[in-house]
Amino acid sequence: MSGKNRCSVCGNHTDIVAKVISDPNILYCRNCRDEELRRLERNFNLMKFVCIRCGSTNVKKDDLRTGINEDVFNIKASTIDQVIAVYAVARLSCIDCKNIFHVNILDNGPRTF
Ligand SMILES: [Zn+2]
Ligand SMILES: [Zn+2]
Repeated sequence: MSGKNRCSVCGNHTDIVAKVISDPNILYCRNCRDEELRRLERNFNLMKFVCIRCGSTNVKKDDLRTGINEDVFNIKASTIDQVIAVYAVARLSCIDCKNIFHVNILDNGPRTF
């Protein structure tokens, strides 16, 4: 299987690296997949969190990771990622009470029905 197809986002006929399983399937080329992850990262950074222990808004975000699929669902031996969710995981630490916690955001894409 060549993995070449038409990217649903930019329309280029190119290597497909990720696919959202929906009807119809949404196919992503590398650039469009990367842009999707950058978008999630940008918007994630806009989110405000409070400390889950003391309620303080004095919370510092670090170690942000974004990705597709891994840690979410295991789909084996596919040449392309079957996108079920795009995720962002970040470590947060409270400046006031020193509590450390993690948030894990999953973006499942727009509903298709
Ligand atoms: Zn594309
Ligand atoms: Zn706190």
